[in-house]
Amino acid sequence: MSTWKRTVECGAVTEKMLGKEVVLNGWIAHRRDHGGLVFIDLRDRSGIVQAVFNSDHSKEAHSIAESLRSEFVVSIHGTVIARSEAQINDKMATGKVEVQVSSIAILNPSKHLPFSLEEDDIDEELRLKYRYLDLRRPLMQQRLALRSIVLFSMREFLIQNGFFEVETPILTKTTPGGAREFLTPSRIHQGSFYALAQSPQIYKQLLMTAGFERYFQIARCFRDEDSRLDRQPEFTQLDLEMSFVEEADVRGVIEHMLAFVFKKLFNIEIKLPLPTFAYDYVFALFGSDKPDLRYNLPIYDLTSVFKTVKLSFLEAVLGQGGKIGALHIEDKKFTRSELEAWVEKSKKLGSKGLLYIHFAQDGTIESPVSKFLPTDFLKQAQSVIKSLKLGDTLFIVAGNYKEAWPILGKLRSAFAQELDLIKPNTLNLCWIVDFPLLERDEKDTRWNSAHHPFTAPKEGWEKLQPGDMKAQAYDLVCNGFEIGGGSIRIYDKAEQYKVFEMLGLSDKEIQEKFGFFLEAQEFGFPPSGGIALGLDRLLMILANAQNIREVIAFPKTQRGYDAMMHSPTPIAPTVLKELGIACIASSKEGNADKK
Ligand code: ASP
Repeated sequence: MSTWKRTVECGAVTEKMLGKEVVLNGWIAHRRDHGGLVFIDLRDRSGIVQAVFNSDHSKEAHSIAESLRSEFVVSIHGTVIARSEAQINDKMATGKVEVQVSSIAILNPSKHLPFSLEEDDIDEELRLKYRYLDLRRPLMQQRLALRSIVLFSMREFLIQNGFFEVETPILTKTTPGGAREFLTPSRIHQGSFYALAQSPQIYKQLLMTAGFERYFQIARCFRDEDSRLDRQPEFTQLDLEMSFVEEADVRGVIEHMLAFVFKKLFNIEIKLPLPTFAYDYVFALFGSDKPDLRYNLPIYDLTSVFKTVKLSFLEAVLGQGGKIGALHIEDKKFTRSELEAWVEKSKKLGSKGLLYIHFAQDGTIESPVSKFLPTDFLKQAQSVIKSLKLGDTLFIVAGNYKEAWPILGKLRSAFAQELDLIKPNTLNLCWIVDFPLLERDEKDTRWNSAHHPFTAPKEGWEKLQPGDMKAQAYDLVCNGFEIGGGSIRIYDKAEQYKVFEMLGLSDKEIQEKFGFFLEAQEFGFPPSGGIALGLDRLLMILANAQNIREVIAFPKTQRGYDAMMHSPTPIAPTVLKELGIACIASSKEGNADKK
């Protein structure tokens, strides 16, 4: 056995071990030199323990201790002793004891680190460049430990409930619609490419055809999307599919799984069933399909109140069938500069303007448009906003419903943050259902699936206009984040074909892209439904972290760059040749990341 075989972890050295000989391994968090006594704090994954080098006890160990520096990785052999009364540290789990060192082996020294592991505010690029050091920080260790145990508990629940974990390919086939894909060239089939799986969607439906009935996978997915705060080019989903189910069955499994995980890991009880809201309802009230319900602050529709107000810009909006929505901030008069900042903010969010109306305590109306408002405006507005009173302020956005309401929704979150309306340490989970089946693409030229093309429409869809068709789809929302989404699937070939056609695919395209799938629907294809939860996002919320990079071991930067390995990289011409590829451009942007 090697001399440095650990007998106990640093965080597990307690008073019960007084007098015992121990071998500890770890990193030096701190070193304090008091002449004849040198103290180190030794850190491993389990915690920290103090070790003391006393020249009277071991001259040799003490002389090595003088050369120790932070982050050396060492092995010590010593005896657990009690700390003197004055030395006791109640804040440390091991604060009543220390290890008197008899011998030490320096397993490896360390250069001076590029940042202190105790700092809170470290430049993120530096953290990502030296991620292995960043991950030494206890906070990051806790986050990844949380990740591990949450994933384990989900697996535990699902396997206990009859689900099979099945892995599906990452190298797959490009599919139209959906997100942009990452492509991998094939050396053997030159000129052809695999697409990295955006999700295991088709495979999981085929697993149902294969008769597995209950499938799940902790699946890595790849989407070449523009980076946003809570997006990564590769991310992890809890992917699940069940045969012979309705919407409520899939939602039920997920709810019970979350209840199991929250109870087991955090002793949090969540009340089931989770509240369920229709898409149209939450859009009208909160301007979003992922409303944060930790606070109220709904959007009020004041269109009827403004019908008689002679203001040309509002008349123009109403003339085009637009709407006028308001946020109601109680008991607050904003300063001029605050108001200007809110107007600026709403413009940044895409509005043409933000109108404010303050009802002063003396009954006057303070607003740039006050002289255009009727004298009984407060009373009229109260017919819609029952709780409106003197002292309150309204913020108003006018425009096309589909555009103005999301702006109000984002202002709603910004007001909630600014005015401290969000209840801390709350998890507010809900389902959103009755989504539209289709939505117009950005250029308004064709229909896209709101979820994906395999989602079953709600009954009666054939009689409706495409824009009015609803989907048997559901999203799980937590604290204003969409943490999951799924649907009941089409299982009838003719219906699937019709949906592909509505999406503008020609017969040739349908056969080329989905021929194998439509064929599978001819061999006893069972009805099924499923869902995928975005585990990075869920973990971000559970860890109280600011973005998903904080709960991923080795994430990319916001620009999809690996700051540690410096990837992506150009590829040598010989390799490209072997793949049958010629590059016509190289990205200046990519190089800009490579500092
Ligand atoms: N595959 C879908 C997604 O990744 C989820 C599902 O419908 O099950 O969003």
